[in-house]
Amino acid sequence: MIFRVFEKEELKKLVELLIAHNRVVGPVEAGKDSSGIPIYAFGEIFEFKDLRLNYTTTKLSAKKYFLPFKEELATFRMDTMNWQKEINYNVKSPLILFGLHPCDINALNKLDKVLIHSDYPMPYYLAKRKNTFIVGVNCEPQPSCFCRSMGTDTAMHGFDLFITDLGNRYFAEIHTDTAYNFLKHIKTTEPCEDDHVRYMKIVSERNKKFVTYVDTTDLMKILDMEFQSEVWKHWGDRCLACGTCSSVCPTCYCYGVEESVDIDLKRARKLKMLYSCNLIDFAEVAGGHNFRPERSTRLKYRYYHKHRGFVEAFEESLCVGCGRCGEACLAEIRVPDVINSVRSNGVRV
Ligand code: SF4
Ligand code: SF4
Repeated sequence: MIFRVFEKEELKKLVELLIAHNRVVGPVEAGKDSSGIPIYAFGEIFEFKDLRLNYTTTKLSAKKYFLPFKEELATFRMDTMNWQKEINYNVKSPLILFGLHPCDINALNKLDKVLIHSDYPMPYYLAKRKNTFIVGVNCEPQPSCFCRSMGTDTAMHGFDLFITDLGNRYFAEIHTDTAYNFLKHIKTTEPCEDDHVRYMKIVSERNKKFVTYVDTTDLMKILDMEFQSEVWKHWGDRCLACGTCSSVCPTCYCYGVEESVDIDLKRARKLKMLYSCNLIDFAEVAGGHNFRPERSTRLKYRYYHKHRGFVEAFEESLCVGCGRCGEACLAEIRVPDVINSVRSNGVRV
């Protein structure tokens, strides 16, 4: 890793340079809630002033740029008597993702394990991932964040450049030669001792701002012991089976594939759509049998995939503790509450 510092006005130059030659997306203010608090989303940046680097968690994650909710995988055309197949990886010009928080960088790293480094890589995801330059930025912990408990409050890889606001300047961690070359276009210097001290102080102050914790000690074993617990029924009865939690989650990747043929039999297409394990027909198979007809079994499955099955396969949880699912859930089902209640075997639910 190479470290540099640069003055704040240099960031504007860098972003404008990137906008001039690339598609840049980052946090923008999408509106305000009923209390006047800004709502943030990832969107295209056309001018530096659109970028909100001091944003809180976005409602939707940056997953949408790698796993769109709906994606055409292939089209088929009947040409004389043969079907012509056309595959489109849906990759546009290089994408600069500017301003990802550590949890969202770690979420992409987790998706990589399944969608790039497993036995069956997904070329559609890989093509987009390889075409992206990522700039991370440090964040202010929000009350709903529990990334520190999940070990995802800092990002050690999965980005090209990571910047931390030192107050009067930025501290930059350079992770790739692309980032190194980009930074040649602005004025940077080697960090002095004061910069390092200031950086360490900011990191340590940030660590003290996390207020939500989840005890993950022996969680896999506890989940095994509590498979039949009444706690699952308690949360399942509250769940509306709406699937919102999976939609906003940066690490949920389950999907369904739909094929359709035009009525004149000249064209067909294959569509991939993200899906949620909380939806009623998620585990329905041909013949109409549903392996998880109850909301409680589906909700339980989501937790066992994130905190049990994924841990067994990859030695880490599939949850980064961003808190988005709990904030979006109309039934106020939050991961820390569910895990704490499982740990206490439903004594306090
Ligand atoms: S947990 Fe909440 S967001 Fe998820 S399906 Fe149930 S009600 Fe919807
Ligand atoms: S399960 Fe919830 S808290 Fe965990 S990564 Fe997904 S949205 Fe974030």
